[in-house]
Amino acid sequence: MSQFWSRLTHDLMPYVPGEQPRLVELVKLNTNESPLGPSPRALEAIRGEATDTLRLYPDPRASALRAALASYHRVRPEQVFVGNGSDEVLAHAFAALLKHDAPLLFPDITYSFYPVYCRLFGIAWDAVPLDQAMQIRVADYLRPAGAIIIPNPNAPTGVALSRAEIATLLQQHADVPVVIDEAYVDFGAETAIPLVASHPNLLVVQTMSKSRALAGLRVGYAIGDADLIEALTRVKDSFNSYPLGRPAQAGAIASLQDEAWFQQSRASVIEGRERLNRGLIRLGFDVLPSSANFVFARHPAHEGAALAAALRQRTVIVRHFAAPRISDYLRITVGTDQQIDRLLAELSDILGSP
Ligand SMILES: *Cc1c(COP(=O)(O)O)cnc(C)c1O
Repeated sequence: MSQFWSRLTHDLMPYVPGEQPRLVELVKLNTNESPLGPSPRALEAIRGEATDTLRLYPDPRASALRAALASYHRVRPEQVFVGNGSDEVLAHAFAALLKHDAPLLFPDITYSFYPVYCRLFGIAWDAVPLDQAMQIRVADYLRPAGAIIIPNPNAPTGVALSRAEIATLLQQHADVPVVIDEAYVDFGAETAIPLVASHPNLLVVQTMSKSRALAGLRVGYAIGDADLIEALTRVKDSFNSYPLGRPAQAGAIASLQDEAWFQQSRASVIEGRERLNRGLIRLGFDVLPSSANFVFARHPAHEGAALAAALRQRTVIVRHFAAPRISDYLRITVGTDQQIDRLLAELSDILGSP
């Protein structure tokens, strides 16, 4: 608290990121990073940018990267926006597209950054409850809305909607912007990008942080009608003209060019997730059906906070949210096979089962 702070700053309730501990021997399963490294070709491209040209500003429009993303996703470059991680892309979308007279709708259990942006930008919102199965029901969004944002798969549940359900949502709300946050889509959900051509109100946001193992590089992007992209660009150029440095632009392009690495890496995470699922079910956990690189699970006989604390004592870190409806759950990132085995062994020990 300071007399020097703006009124806005006093009223903010910032997002609290998952802990980034210093201890390297920890099994870190709390922030949905990839257990595998980035594409070697991306690393090589990033290293290639560590030269004298770093004294020059990068391309403010990231034209080469936007062209590469357009070609990868079969859209036009004017339909692509890039930013410093998808959190920044989302922030610009909140300012550019999601502030209207009627409230912004998003699920009651979802990415906890959304209410934070709402407070920052002064956006009224209405949280739409998930159903009993912790799933989003598109029909529940038939209420007054200035705009809608939904992660697909949802976070932290991992549960996905089908593309047909997203299409229904878009048809029912053709007059307002709808943002689909696809941070985890590559792990088993259907992307809504093919719907962009027929839905000028749709903005799809993706990131290279999770499925491309580049969380440290900070590259996110949005795909939508050129008119929506122009709105994001106006906000970006009122905030920071150069959000992506030269290494980030080069590394992101090289990652897109290494399709073999990408496919192999996401297949391996999906395989790990199924192993983790089976192990947790064997220990008596209820596990929500996940299409992401994490699972959301609870044990009928043990409190989430207690389990997370016990794991932490054993140097295994998972994410626990002390929030209504989900305080019994643990969100566990899919790690390497070795990390999964370690987690399951510690849990088995904590639960006192063989
Ligand atoms: C991780 C995540 C993001 C942001 O990722 P960036 O690293 O900023 O690209 C956005 N939305 C959801 C739902 C996420 O889980």
